[in-house]
Amino acid sequence: MITRLHDPEYARWATQIRQTGGCRQPIQLRGHVEHRDPATGQVLHRYSTHREPGGVLRVACRTRRASRCPSCAEVYRADTYHLIRAGLVGGKGVPEAVSAHPCLFVTLTAPSFGSVHTRCERNGRVLPCHARRGASICPHGTPISCTARHTADDPRLGEPLCGECYDYAASVLFNAAAPELWRRFTDALRRRLAKLTGLTLRELREQLRVSFAKVAEYQRRGVVHFHAVIRLDGPDGPDTTPPVWATAELLTDAVRHAVGAVTVTIPAGGGEPERVLRWGEQLDVRPITTEGDLTDQAVAGYVAKYATKAAECVGTLDRRINLLDDLDALPIREHARCLIAECLRLGVLEHLADLRLVQWAHMLGFRGHFSTHSRRYSTTLGALRAERAEHARVETTTGRLPYFDEDTVLVVAHWAYAGRGHSPGDALLAAALTGTPPPDPSSTGRVA
Ligand SMILES: [Zn+2]
Ligand SMILES: [Zn+2]
Ligand SMILES: [Zn+2]
Repeated sequence: MITRLHDPEYARWATQIRQTGGCRQPIQLRGHVEHRDPATGQVLHRYSTHREPGGVLRVACRTRRASRCPSCAEVYRADTYHLIRAGLVGGKGVPEAVSAHPCLFVTLTAPSFGSVHTRCERNGRVLPCHARRGASICPHGTPISCTARHTADDPRLGEPLCGECYDYAASVLFNAAAPELWRRFTDALRRRLAKLTGLTLRELREQLRVSFAKVAEYQRRGVVHFHAVIRLDGPDGPDTTPPVWATAELLTDAVRHAVGAVTVTIPAGGGEPERVLRWGEQLDVRPITTEGDLTDQAVAGYVAKYATKAAECVGTLDRRINLLDDLDALPIREHARCLIAECLRLGVLEHLADLRLVQWAHMLGFRGHFSTHSRRYSTTLGALRAERAEHARVETTTGRLPYFDEDTVLVVAHWAYAGRGHSPGDALLAAALTGTPPPDPSSTGRVA
């Protein structure tokens, strides 16, 4: 800290840090950019990181994961909120008329892989976890019952009643197959809509488009489920009115059918049986309205909240696991350890190689994107970022980097990655400069 504060380049360093908005692990770039006149080749402006403190430019990491960088995750969360909301009520280039299109909020769950400790409330009272009269004893001698009324932060929540009965293989394979199951669900949904209306798929596409945005959430037991906004548009997306027969009831019917109709088969091999994976029976389908129970605002907030979370909220690690890692020594929940071990065990089987379970063991097998949306759902995160960059460019007064209209100048740039993160002293200064909480000293910040 003292070295940095006495550095003659401190002021410029502080400006860079303020521009990263309190990013905890800024990316350091080395390189240059030239703006040239396309006709004469004359250099209009040249910027190089050469004269920057330490010879590098620091830019925000833009992660969506709150466990890695709270400030960048907050930006991501806010962008996701606006993206989802624009698809429900308009704005950001989407017409307001979109709010009249039939739209559902759908939660697709995983099936059961064995009894786990749960917390259920009815009429404001917490129910006993698994109260069974004359509870049965599992083959491992464990009673399949639990009369506890678990508190919301009980570490037993999501843990199996009997770890030996729990189907760990099916659990991680479900996570691995979930993106494909989703893809098949959207196909089946279009086919069902066509069937219900007596159209061919091609005729349907000429009249209607199914737009969606979805986010994955980990349940405590370590399986993903999906929350999705599914909307019916006219053939060209949100700008066009859907046909009059396209109602929320029709869409509900098609969703219920499609969820039950799709499966993904994992072939047998390496001593493992064939497994047919499907969605769980718990399915929640609710219309989104501008007032009442499930408003557009509530849905956008809900989706955005999950967009910045990952598997670490079920007590696993937020980094890749190495085959040489000592699993027993990792600071994780026992249930997460078993799921990771299962990924490592199945990951080396040849017929499952495509699932890349070893690389995605820390995600408990899930390798899909956390939040995705169809092309015409609303705006894109890229467009929101560009809008913000444009805003910052107008606001910026440092005069360090002039901007030209990209159509009238030739931009020649060369950038190289030069590292990531802060030294411990810089991290404290950066937190003070940007008004963000200082990093936890036990966290492993990487330094270039
Ligand atoms: Zn960041
Ligand atoms: Zn219990
Ligand atoms: Zn058992």
